Amino acid sequence: MSSIRESLDAVKKRITDACRRAGRSSEEVRLIGVTKKVGTEKIKAAIECGLRDFGENYIQEAREKIEKIPGDVSWHMIGHIQSNKVKYIPKLFDYVHSVDKWDIIEGLERYEKPMDVLFEVNVAGEDSKHGTGVDGVRRMLEKTKTLTHVKPVGLMTMAPFVENPEEIRWVFVRLREILKEMNDEFGLAMRELSMGMSSDFEVAVEEGATMVRIGTAIFGERL
Ligand SMILES: *Cc1c(COP(=O)(O)O)cnc(C)c1O
Repeated sequence: MSSIRESLDAVKKRITDACRRAGRSSEEVRLIGVTKKVGTEKIKAAIECGLRDFGENYIQEAREKIEKIPGDVSWHMIGHIQSNKVKYIPKLFDYVHSVDKWDIIEGLERYEKPMDVLFEVNVAGEDSKHGTGVDGVRRMLEKTKTLTHVKPVGLMTMAPFVENPEEIRWVFVRLREILKEMNDEFGLAMRELSMGMSSDFEVAVEEGATMVRIGTAIFGERL
């Protein structure tokens, strides 16, 4: 197994290369290390290698791990959120990528802490995935004018798993289009596109990802 430093360097190089192909600056892409089922030692090693953003999927796991990890890092909630767990989020996380219903926003707003949120869009309409449709995003955006603490900053998607990521390039293109449509419609300037995982991040970066969520390619296979 290669070291975290080697894996991280390899991922960063692939991001830089994808940016170059797309005529983008690699500074536009934030690399989020996804640490579900990854132990705190490996997370600390990644911090020593300079990684500053981490994503967790499960509130319970995050509660156990995040407090053991000191340092100036940002935590991103990327997993499905049950309404009764929203109360734990403000203390643990800086960003929430997986907002797919208004309940979550209302719950977060109550904590009076600035919170950047992204709406999870199920672009391919897969039954096995969470996320909402364009109309769902629209319905939530219609209500966000009343918010003072929660700030919509963009969209997130998980593309279907396929052998060849070229097959799902359209998903990333579509998410970028939806972001533009929503910005135009609501007079907003949301700019984050959280898209791309270990198997498809280069295509996502070529199509405008500003945040990539990468687990396996940095930390190895999850047990
Ligand atoms: C697990 C997970 C990832 C990372 O997946 P890898 O294939 O290990 O890179 C990214 N996003 C979400 C929402 C996840 O659940």
